[in-house]
Amino acid sequence: MLPPPTYDDVIGAAGRLDGQAHRTPVLTSRTANEMTGAELFFKCENFQRMGAFKFRGAFNALSCFDAKQRAAGVVAFSSGNHAQAIALAARLLGMPATIVMPEDAPAAKMAATRQYGGHVVTYDRYAEDREAIGRRLAEERGMTLIPPYDHPHVIAGQGTAAKELFEEVGDLDFLFVCLGGGGLLAGTALATRALSPKTTLYGVEPEAGNDGQQSFRSGAIVRIETPRTIADGAQTQHLGHYTFDIIKRDVDDILTVTDAQLIDGMRFFAARMKIVVEPTGCLGFAAARDREAQVRGKRVGVIVSGGNVDLERFGALIAPSHPDPNSSPSR
Ligand SMILES: *Cc1c(COP(=O)(O)O)cnc(C)c1O
Repeated sequence: MLPPPTYDDVIGAAGRLDGQAHRTPVLTSRTANEMTGAELFFKCENFQRMGAFKFRGAFNALSCFDAKQRAAGVVAFSSGNHAQAIALAARLLGMPATIVMPEDAPAAKMAATRQYGGHVVTYDRYAEDREAIGRRLAEERGMTLIPPYDHPHVIAGQGTAAKELFEEVGDLDFLFVCLGGGGLLAGTALATRALSPKTTLYGVEPEAGNDGQQSFRSGAIVRIETPRTIADGAQTQHLGHYTFDIIKRDVDDILTVTDAQLIDGMRFFAARMKIVVEPTGCLGFAAARDREAQVRGKRVGVIVSGGNVDLERFGALIAPSHPDPNSSPSR
């Protein structure tokens, strides 16, 4: 088993990602500042390659492979951003990638993964266990399995986004970070404790899937059923062992927001800042808005984690809700 990652591993990851990942922009918005009374800094990973921070962890993990691992390639199980991140990173590094996806995964996601050069293997999500399939492929074909969050090299890679943020804007009073399985939050925690140790660091989950909050407050990893939420990047059932140990030690608290608050966030980002943010990417901002009294007058960072949402779904989510969108007032 690999040792848990430290901030030195984040520095190492930043070196490997140099010239490969985008150094994403930090946006500001006078309207957002007026709304919250805070000075907000948005680290916009929706502009990262393949549209989310996951490229950082994936590329770092694959860059650490030895020659034998490179030849056999990587296997990952995911229907979301991790799949695309692994497929793209593998292509850039010239190694084969096999992605295990449920056979009913959205066609657009399968197509995107294939477009990046990933070999897609499907399974029946009601009858088969994707982790077992991933492990079997790894064993039979010598491939290396890279999980979406609970891996030291993935965590170190995800930490490079916060490293860039602190290097660009300096110390922050607060930092709000989306939380699924905790790769982004754990990596961010390593960077935060090294670069701006006094920052109050919050992880933010969808209210319907608050396993991270329960785990943080009880001191042991809590497992839940797949939560019903529009934040599909945070539909994880439990934190990882590496991620939880770091989160327990270095994070101040885990907050939750509702799907309605995420939709408000998507609307704000589109209307005011002209950016497309997927529901999960709005978790941090929604929580910062919710904590207006606490953040007023403070310097506040928000990691906007990704922008991968089908345009049709995006339109449906941000549209003002009508009882029947097809009925016209005159009828
Ligand atoms: C994966 C993902 C998350 C959650 O990240 P974890 O490392 O699993 O906590 C948040 N936002 C987006 C856009 C993601 O793809």
